[in-house]
Amino acid sequence: MARVALVTGGTRGIGSAIAKALQQSGYKVASNYGGHDETAQHFRDETGIPVFKFDVSDAEACEAGIRAVEAELGPIDILVNNAGITRDAMFHKMTFDQWSAVIRTNLDSMFTCTRPVIEGMRERGFGRIILISSVNGQKGQMGQANYSAAKAGVIGFAKALAQENANKGVTVNVIAPGYIATEMVKAVPEEVLKSKILPLIPVGRLGEVEEIARGVVFLASDEAGFVTGSTLTINGGQYMA
Ligand code: NDP
Repeated sequence: MARVALVTGGTRGIGSAIAKALQQSGYKVASNYGGHDETAQHFRDETGIPVFKFDVSDAEACEAGIRAVEAELGPIDILVNNAGITRDAMFHKMTFDQWSAVIRTNLDSMFTCTRPVIEGMRERGFGRIILISSVNGQKGQMGQANYSAAKAGVIGFAKALAQENANKGVTVNVIAPGYIATEMVKAVPEEVLKSKILPLIPVGRLGEVEEIARGVVFLASDEAGFVTGSTLTINGGQYMA
């Protein structure tokens, strides 16, 4: 029986690559999106992966959304908490709305998406929880006090949850990407990219979404059963945590 994986924020960028890589590795995959500008509650993307619309910052919506995923695919064995947003501003100019939106989407989602699946994983004696943090949660980033706080919180959450569930066959790990060539980063002007961003990356290029996805496929596998509570840094050498 193929294991079931849910990838939050799986419609674009890193999440989309993760969903596709898991599908190619033989998992039954579901994606999620917030779809604030879209109306479709449930559809299939171009690769046939079912997509469920629910807001990861809303506990009730997540509970209902995850039950809908399980009704269609079966109990979730692998959860990838990937959905995330930025609302950048220097802290002395930051509004509470900017702070709160990022904390709710990037940190509250660790509770709202993980809580509905953890008991089932423990009962079945197998689970993989993979959380997408960021280099900016490891080193801090000016203009991103909200994002850095949330992404650092993800790492603490993983360490606590890993300890609670290690004897139940459930591992909990983090991937901390550096600059990855998603639409967001590609929108940065070529000049800024060359003069300000690439010099920070010893490997000398942006990361590809597939390079994050391959890390997820490893952490999801049986072979990674002894890896828990760890943070896999994939950033081209930008920051060595
Ligand atoms: P994108 O903006 O390309 O995609 C984000 C995804 O999350 C979309 O599918 C989006 O769908 C979904 N999403 C956003 N808010 C919600 C919500 N409230 N509920 C459900 N889904 C939501 O992001 P990236 O692929 O660039 O980033 C993915 C993850 O990787 C994020 O956690 C990000 O912080 C992290 N990361 C990215 C880096 C990069 O260089 N790109 C570097 C380090 C970390 P919709 O908009 O429809 O809601």
